[in-house]
Amino acid sequence: MTHAAGILWILSAPSGAGKTSLARALVAEVPGLRTSVSFTTRAPRPGEQDGVDYHFVSKETFAAMAERGEFLEYAQVHGNSYGTGESWVKQQLFQGADCLLEIDWQGARLVRERLPDYAQSIFILPPSLSTLEERLRGRGQDSAEVIARRLAAAREELLHYDEFDYLVVNADFAAALADLRSILRAAHLRREQQQFTEGERLKHLLGGQ
Ligand code: GDP
Ligand code: ADP
Ligand code: 5GP
Repeated sequence: MTHAAGILWILSAPSGAGKTSLARALVAEVPGLRTSVSFTTRAPRPGEQDGVDYHFVSKETFAAMAERGEFLEYAQVHGNSYGTGESWVKQQLFQGADCLLEIDWQGARLVRERLPDYAQSIFILPPSLSTLEERLRGRGQDSAEVIARRLAAAREELLHYDEFDYLVVNADFAAALADLRSILRAAHLRREQQQFTEGERLKHLLGGQ
């Protein structure tokens, strides 16, 4: 893939840290930023829509897609399969649009390996483990058993914080959102990005007398 202006943003966090809420708020206010809709074998939660929150597919369909090499990455998370479709993401990046992936640490690792020149990764930290538990219960969408499993997995997920480029604490929602906005803006001001975005201007400035 030749270089395009798009940045591939990886957003990871233990379940309940606020990844989905923050991603939604960020996409709503950053022009040109789009979220990749993942494929999953998990059952939809109440209110979740196919094609919007996830592409909900059977285990057989998921396995066939993996077999055909249609995923940029996929992983088993909390007993279900999750995967990022490759073609849509690459199309976005080619068009110069940023793309946001809400994926787990295993997927983050694979994407960094596959697209090292495009990927930048952010890890969301909950303020504390007790707050994480409160948020998982407060969301009211998972059974007690699922919540217990996700809390146990949170510790495992947290162990991988040091593989990420940025760490954002989601204590106050508005502050965390502002941090994410700053990260995106600063990344676009990096010289390598600006050489692409402001290529015409640089040509005129340098070509002038
Ligand atoms: P759902 O899966 O569609 O219910 O979405 P989430 O669980 O991600 O978030 C539920 C709702 O809470 C969404 O409308 C969010 O925008 C909102 N929300 C998330 N965090 C906060 C917060 O810290 N403060 C406020 N005021 N709203 C929040
Ligand atoms: P994730 O996608 O990481 O599993 P969600 O975005 O679904 O997490 O957030 C989990 C719950 O915590 C949701 O009910 C959400 O509204 C709530 N939440 C997220 N961020 C905050 C925050 N800063 N303060 C209070 N509640 C929050
Ligand atoms: P949830 O079921 O709460 O929506 O997501 C559970 C976990 O799966 C989260 O850690 C989330 O980051 C991860 N996940 C969601 N989509 C993908 C994906 O496409 N690939 C990978 N590797 N993980 C994903």
